Amino acid sequence: MNGTRLGAGIRERLYVSTTDTYDETADLDYIAIEYALNGERVALTPAEKIHAARILDARGLEPTPIARRIGSDPATVTGWKNNGWKPGGKHPKTRVRTPRPEPVCGEPRMYRRHLKNGERCDTCRAANAAADRRYRATGSQKQVTT
Ligand SMILES: [Zn+2]
Repeated sequence: MNGTRLGAGIRERLYVSTTDTYDETADLDYIAIEYALNGERVALTPAEKIHAARILDARGLEPTPIARRIGSDPATVTGWKNNGWKPGGKHPKTRVRTPRPEPVCGEPRMYRRHLKNGERCDTCRAANAAADRRYRATGSQKQVTT
């Protein structure tokens, strides 16, 4: 039985270029890109994927259908978009790390810093001993503030 899926209809075909079929400087095969734009299976180079993703994004597609058509990941497509349609870029789920603050005297961390530098500091030594006692008593070095 031959049938057409309901709602599939005839989709408008997207064309990349009418004159050029290949861009040597950018390494783009426009015929392959045209296949990808229209949802046909084709292997693309990374440059072609970015070019195709850019065209589809300009037509208002979401990253997920774009990624499906070019055979990539939605997060990768979002990364290219945020990077100005250039390869690389940060993964959109990358966590922004804030560096730990420098230890000050009176912290066990500073005690270890003193030891490393061969210094002696009674304040830090007492703080480290207190943290060690807390750890043995409670299983945590964190000071409970009430
Ligand atoms: Zn100190």
